This record gives sequence, structure tokens and C-alpha cells, in this order.
Amino acid sequence: MHGISWQRGEKFYWYDANTNHILKISKPIFYILTNDQKNIRRLSFKEKERAHKIISEFRRKYGVFKPTSVIKRVVKDCNAVKEMLSNSMGSLILNITNDCNMRCKYCTFGDKYPYAKSYDKSKMSFYIMKKGMEYLFSHAKKSEKVYISFYGGEPLLYFDIIKKGIKYAKALGQKYNKSIKFKITTNFTSVTKEMMQFFIENRVNLTISLNGPKEIHDRERIFKNGSGTFDVIMQNLRTLYRLSSEYLHSHVTYAIVITPPFEILTVRDFFNSFPYKTRNLLIITLPSPHDTTYYKNMPSTIWKDYQQQLENLKREFIEQIHKGMKPDWFTFSFFKGILYRIHTRFVGKRDYMYPNGAGIPGATRCYLSTDGIYYPCEKVWERLPIGDVKHGINKRRVCYIYSRFIEICESQCLDCWANGLCYLCYNRALEFKNGRNVLSMEKKGQYCDDVKNTLKKALIFYTDIMEATGGNFFNTFKLSSTNVKDECKI
Ligand code: SF4
Ligand code: SF4
Repeated sequence: MHGISWQRGEKFYWYDANTNHILKISKPIFYILTNDQKNIRRLSFKEKERAHKIISEFRRKYGVFKPTSVIKRVVKDCNAVKEMLSNSMGSLILNITNDCNMRCKYCTFGDKYPYAKSYDKSKMSFYIMKKGMEYLFSHAKKSEKVYISFYGGEPLLYFDIIKKGIKYAKALGQKYNKSIKFKITTNFTSVTKEMMQFFIENRVNLTISLNGPKEIHDRERIFKNGSGTFDVIMQNLRTLYRLSSEYLHSHVTYAIVITPPFEILTVRDFFNSFPYKTRNLLIITLPSPHDTTYYKNMPSTIWKDYQQQLENLKREFIEQIHKGMKPDWFTFSFFKGILYRIHTRFVGKRDYMYPNGAGIPGATRCYLSTDGIYYPCEKVWERLPIGDVKHGINKRRVCYIYSRFIEICESQCLDCWANGLCYLCYNRALEFKNGRNVLSMEKKGQYCDDVKNTLKKALIFYTDIMEATGGNFFNTFKLSSTNVKDECKI
């Protein structure tokens, strides 16, 4: 059958790959779906007959339990892509500089990521910034609002240009009648009081990198001279808090990179009792595993430890909701993305799939480098150009990239049980081959086992939460919790 099953104590579940249904099934059906001959032989004739009857009935009624994939194609529409690029651009990430005052050990600019760009002194000119912004506004007719992010390196090294850019974008916002959200991703070590005041006045969102308590943060996030940055960040947060605790609470988001040996529970405890908590969920990631030597000399047990720590975190999450408590800030932030992906999946019969987690390069997101080249987003490390400020985004090139990705998905994913939930994107398919960056099926294939493992564990966690709360927990997503459908429970 096309899907996966799992057992939790005396309960049995089925994720149906053709329809995205998650079903609670009986033990005999579980044995039959998993072709467990030993246990099937132990079932009585009546149990087997009933199980087969239900399987046939549900197959007919809901399209579930089909033996093979019914997905025949990946959604592809180049006209829609062109239309989106013309009228629905929504976000521009301006890479202000490749320079930084820090030298984090997992930084993609460093020597652990040979295919990413390296540190240099480049700085975006106001001319390039203006061209990028004008392009965004004139191609965003159908977007309700636009998002402009300032990125780096460390963008605050060049605050002057950010200040000018925000003023200019606001004038464009008035001209095009668009509201704008500004965001700066910063290490928050070179920020001044004057900058803070500007951010408060202009309601700029700040994403501040902070990895946890001093001993964990300072292990990897260091200045060029090797000293830790934790104390400086805390001092700056204190100043910001004094200037406006309301602003800090509403406009600051913390970005945490969990590094080996991970110590997830210690990081959790730190953030849950943090004096500068905000209302925004934390962004929690690991150092990128893509094309890196970062993990090379680490003991092979780190991933087993990591999984164990995750299981502990999940267990405590379930315990919290069993006690009627809301999951804590850190834990909720940690799992929200994947649970949300599962919860909001399309459920029903389908003969098509979307190309994994890929959006439309340039429309969904668009990254502009210091030298005026457009890329799909910051995660492709300036490896997949899609245009430049002189000529704009090259729609044919975007269609080619999108079509190539779809071609890869069509040869790779149609029979995969995870294709309704898979989140792999262009960055995972990029390979440096014969002196060029190309989208490669083999490269993307290297991540499939990880994705399937992660998704299977997330599905188990999702149903555990459903069982513990009767689905009520997912009301926090402000969506109806209809996905374990009553009529499909067996
Ligand atoms: S602050 Fe960001 S850009 Fe600077 S070294 Fe650290 S990870 Fe790299
Ligand atoms: S896990 Fe791999 S094969 Fe499966 S859908 Fe994702 S990319 Fe395709």
C-alpha cells in the first residue's frame, strides 16, 4: 500500500500517501497493510474478513489504501510563473555586505562551506538598492504588502545605507500605495543607541542571533579576535529594553543555531526564563548540513544524541499539554513549522503533486547581492542567478529553473510516500559540477532518507498531540483541526 504505518502502544495509524489522510486503524488492518504475514496468520477468519471489507470500502469511498501511487504529474505552469513574477513579487532580501565583525565557527562565509561566498569588504551601493526596491514595487501590484529585509554579513556595519533605503522604500510605498514590513537580521554587536532609536521609530523588525547561555553562545559566536559576543549582545538588549520594552517585545525575534553537542534542553531553559522574551516565535536551526566540512571531525554519535534530545523535548511537550498547560515558548517554536506543515496539508484525492518545498524563484522570495544580481533566496548562497538590476528578473531563466526542478521531482518523487509533505527546495538540489552550479537529482536524492525520517517522526508526534488533546491543540494555529477526519477513523 502507498503510505506508511506506525504503532503507539495499542494504537495503530496509517498515513496515506495518495490522499494525505492520517487514519487511525485497527490492529488487523495494520497487519494487512504492512503485510505482516506472521500476525495475519494469527487473526481469526472473521477478523480478516472484516478488515478486508473495511479496506475495500475506504478504498472506494476515499481513495485511501491504494496499492501504488496514483500521483501522475507535478504541477507545472510557466504562465502562472510569469504572471507571478510580473505582479505578485512579495519580498526582497538586500544583501548589504559580505563583511562581518564576527567569525562564527559555522558561518557559511568561512572555510567550512567551500561553495558559499566568502567574507569580503563589498557593500551594496544606494544605486543598486534603489533599483532593487523600484523593481519590487513595480512588480507587486497584486501583493497586499511587501517585505524588505536587510541581510549580510552584518548589515549594521553599514547602517547609513539601511537608513537611506528605509526612507526611500517608504516613499515608494506611498507612491504605490503598499504597506511595507522591514526586517534586519543582525548579530546585534555593533548596534548603537542611535540605531535603536531609529528602529523603534520606524517599527523595523529585528532578527537577533543568540544561541543560548553564555557558555554555549560563546563557543561558536565569536569576534574576529576569538572572544565571545554574548556579554555585548546582552548589554545591547538591556539598552533596547530600557528604550522601549514594548518595541522589544513586539519587534524582536531571536534566531538560534543549535550546535553540537546540541544541549537542547539547556538552551530551552535559557530562553524560557529569558528576561528579554518577545511575543515572536524563535527561529531554531542547525548549522547547514549542505556541502560542508563543519560536521566532519565530530563523533558519529552526535546525531543519535540529537535524536534522543529531540525525543525528550517531545515527551515534555506532550506532558505539558496533558497537564492542560500551553507548551513553552522554546518547544512550541521548535516544532511549530513541521506540525503546521502537516496540519495544513491538502487532504483528499489528488493525481498531482507540488514540487516539494519549492516556490517561484524571484516571486516567493528574491535576494539581491551587493553587486546587483538577483537570486531565488539567501539559502542558495549566490549560486543560482535569475537576473540583475540592469535587466530585471529573467522570466525565461526562472521558468527554466522551475521546470528543471519539476523534471527532477517527476523522475524522483512520484512514487515516494513523502511527496505530499516533502519540503526540499532548490538549495538542496544544487551541485557544483564541471565548473558550474546545476540542479541535480543525485544531489537532492542525498537528502531523501533524512526527510522521510523527519517526516515520519513528525507524523507520529502530530498524532500523539491529536490524541492527547482531541485536536484542540491545533486551534492555536487558528485553523480548524479537521485533518484526522472522523469519517476516516476506523
Ligand atoms: S554574525 Fe553571521 S555573518 Fe557574521 S560570522 Fe556570524 S554567522 Fe557569519
Ligand atoms: S523525500 Fe526525496 S523522493 Fe521523496 S518527495 Fe522528497 S525529494 Fe522526492
